[in-house]
Amino acid sequence: MELNRRTLLASASAVSAAAVAGPLISSVPTAAQTAPAGKQAPAFYRYKIGSFEVTSVNDGVARFPLADTFVRNVKKEEVQKALAEAYLPTDVMTIWFNPTLINTGSRLILIDTGMGEPKGPVGHLRPNLAAAGIDTKAIDTVIISHFHGDHINGIRNGAGEVNYPNAEIMVPAAEWAFWMSDDNMNKAPEAMKGAFGNVRRVFKGLEDKVKKYDAGKEIAPGLTSIATYGHTPGHVSYALANGNDRVLIQSDVTNNPHLFVTNPGWHVQFDQDAAAAEATRRKFYDMAATDKLLVAGFHFPFPSTGHIEKAGSGYRFVPSNWNPAL
Ligand SMILES: [Zn+2]
Repeated sequence: MELNRRTLLASASAVSAAAVAGPLISSVPTAAQTAPAGKQAPAFYRYKIGSFEVTSVNDGVARFPLADTFVRNVKKEEVQKALAEAYLPTDVMTIWFNPTLINTGSRLILIDTGMGEPKGPVGHLRPNLAAAGIDTKAIDTVIISHFHGDHINGIRNGAGEVNYPNAEIMVPAAEWAFWMSDDNMNKAPEAMKGAFGNVRRVFKGLEDKVKKYDAGKEIAPGLTSIATYGHTPGHVSYALANGNDRVLIQSDVTNNPHLFVTNPGWHVQFDQDAAAAEATRRKFYDMAATDKLLVAGFHFPFPSTGHIEKAGSGYRFVPSNWNPAL
């Protein structure tokens, strides 16, 4: 068969017709020997930072109708064009969720906890941790980057019990101050009231147990918190360093990188202070690009790590390649 678009498309339709009409070639068995799995493989990906073992553990992916105002300062058509260029569906928004687990050798630290109970395509952190051989009881520290539901809801299971019973839960002091203020809750726009309620639900009974940390400090061995305010008032990212290696764990400096790494001036509707979030984003990526640092993004596509390069008026996200060895 000659290779051209016409024969390629014709052979594709012949195959789908054969699927209805029966086998195209008589030697092909009519039924597969092995039943299809019908579900995706567990999603966790390990890499080393010095002697530390880091694991990106996927919590799932959310898809929801693309709102006209999903990007506040850009027309929907432009957003759809960027989605099409990334081969993503253009009528829905696609957002991935990837908490990070750090094994320092003596400490087992989880950064962010995902959506909570498994529900459709999200909430798969705990099954994926189990598939990675991690016992949630062995996690000694849970560090929260900010108080949006996709980062804190997984602190508890469906019955309301804490999922990490032996872990100290660490939260940004500035984030705690903002969300726990009754004054802020009362004056918040109606659309944000639910988020305030959710923060109080998750942390109820844990008020005296959580440890508040400041930005700009080493909060665990090799792990330094970085103030990246804007997405929320107390939003924190991290630099993890060991030996000669370093990774920037950005949290939500950007959402979907195909939109907001490429276009750092685009304002996602989740950024509370859009101007501050944009300034943070540009500074953070200038630093990452100049120093060629590995970046882990909670909302980057799995395995959620890659590099950031300067490109045009924005940046280019270059995803990590699969590495079978550690
Ligand atoms: Zn998020």
